[in-house]
Amino acid sequence: MFEQAVQVSEAFRQSAHQMQGSLHMALKGCPECRTTQMIASPALGVCEDCGSNLVVLPRE
Ligand SMILES: [Zn+2]
Repeated sequence: MFEQAVQVSEAFRQSAHQMQGSLHMALKGCPECRTTQMIASPALGVCEDCGSNLVVLPRE
């Protein structure tokens, strides 16, 4: 019974991981303020707080 529960949760975890990969979530952030946010448009823009150019952060 316990083993079955593990398999179900494992399958759920894998499907959730695939979904995340297909969406290819990326983050951008301000190197000055160290703030991060989701990239929602092609343009990175600038930081609202300090005006620095935002940079694409590597996925963790
Ligand atoms: Zn900033």
